[in-house]
Amino acid sequence: MRTTDSSPPASRLPLPSPLAALAVRPGDSDYDDVRHTYTRTGSPAAVIRARGHEDIAAALAHARTAGIPLTVRSGGHGISGRSTNDGGLVVDLSALNAVQVLDAQSGLVRVEAGARWGDVAAQLAPHGLALSSGDTGDVGVGGLATAGGIGLMSRLHGLTIDHMSAAELVLADGCHVRTDAGHDPDLFWAVRGAGANFGVATAFEFQAPSVGDVIAVVTLFDATDTAAFLARWGAAVETAPRTVTSFLTVMAGPGGQPVAQAMTVYAGADPQSAREALGPVLSAGPVLRNQAYVTPYHQLLPATHAAQYAQQPLTVSRSGLLEHITEPAATAVAALLVAGRAPMVQLRSVGGAVNDTPPTATAYAHRTQNFSLMAATLPAGRSALDRSWEQLRPHLNGLYLSFETGTGPRQLRDAFPAAVLDRLKLLKSRYDPGHVFDNNFALPSADLPG
Ligand SMILES: Cc1cc2nc3c(=O)[nH]c(=O)nc-3n(C[C@H](O)[C@H](O)[C@H](O)COP(=O)(O)OP(=O)(O)OC[C@H]3O[C@@H](n4cnc5c(N)ncnc54)[C@H](O)[C@@H]3O)c2cc1C
Repeated sequence: MRTTDSSPPASRLPLPSPLAALAVRPGDSDYDDVRHTYTRTGSPAAVIRARGHEDIAAALAHARTAGIPLTVRSGGHGISGRSTNDGGLVVDLSALNAVQVLDAQSGLVRVEAGARWGDVAAQLAPHGLALSSGDTGDVGVGGLATAGGIGLMSRLHGLTIDHMSAAELVLADGCHVRTDAGHDPDLFWAVRGAGANFGVATAFEFQAPSVGDVIAVVTLFDATDTAAFLARWGAAVETAPRTVTSFLTVMAGPGGQPVAQAMTVYAGADPQSAREALGPVLSAGPVLRNQAYVTPYHQLLPATHAAQYAQQPLTVSRSGLLEHITEPAATAVAALLVAGRAPMVQLRSVGGAVNDTPPTATAYAHRTQNFSLMAATLPAGRSALDRSWEQLRPHLNGLYLSFETGTGPRQLRDAFPAAVLDRLKLLKSRYDPGHVFDNNFALPSADLPG
């Protein structure tokens, strides 16, 4: 379903000619295809289809001169919906979508920020390489790789950012820089977890591991006894070998009773080892349906490139991290589902290799938790969800920004431990003193002496 309002406004935003040539504006035939995101409708004055860093710098300069908002869109799948806006510029990076294998032997790859993870997976597959990067092929590289990246092989391979070896960004002053462990290491640290606050990422280099076929199992569980089921599933996932990563979605089934759909990936193709590794996870509850298949990893996340039109109605979500799914925690999560406080609850396993990276290594500092939790609802259900979420708080430790729609100071405090937040504020003062990149989870600056 598309929106129909693409009538030209009384006056079109005047743009300097290089930008005008790249702009899609209200009244243009393709405006409707580029104005929205997965969760949010938008009415930007112009969407700039950037072809390179010069275009991004020009858009930044123009937004500053015109005093209008500027937002950055890679794949348009941001849950907080902040990659579109009303009345400002959207810098659309979808044309910056190259995926290059720089060294197949070592797994060094360069990926532009506007590529979709499904395309990255498909293009790395012929080289026997893969990056664990979420469960949805249409998610953009830029949004996920600046926040974390919890993927379908996270327990074996860690977060997506754990494989990043360099990033290229346009900074607030329009400079295009390349940062890695030896060049601007503070910036490189900040990009891996809080990147959206520091610039427009144009490309990343990753060290991709060798990955062959995997075994994927899609299981539908009867989750009527929700809390007990969640606690059993959690315990089974935590004790499974690292080759096992499981993502769970719990919602009301056809008769209103809770059902849980698990996508469980065994990162290997040997059926006997897989059976042993997966057994306890797959028997966490009464199974209604089960389908297992051997597949190349990239086929798990195809990219469709379909236009976004705010098709996701559950536009309010809360995000938290759990060390373990204890019985009290499972009871509090189950309570979210009661009376539709959260029509959809998702749990993604982290732990394993995610927790091998020291918490000081990246701005994403949560390296002891085993689960990422998201609960989503309709806008009308926001206060009910918030009230239930308060009951959950004692069981949570940290927050993953990519699944959160609240963008205030509390979310920042939960997302970044105090020492990390202090360091990020200092870096914000250094790299974005004018607060150009404040649209999504804005970091305050530190009060600098003098
Ligand atoms: C259906 C679905 C499934 C998902 N599954 C997972 C999952 O399994 N694991 C996981 O970790 N996450 C998952 N996510 C969350 C996803 O990683 C984030 O929402 C991510 O921000 C989306 O990236 P994008 O480029 O598509 O988003 P966009 O909407 O384009 O951008 C979102 C935000 O990211 C920032 N940003 C985007 N591009 C850049 C850039 N180039 N430079 C600097 N900042 C930028 C901006 O703040 C922007 O507002 C999922 C999201 C959806 C909608």
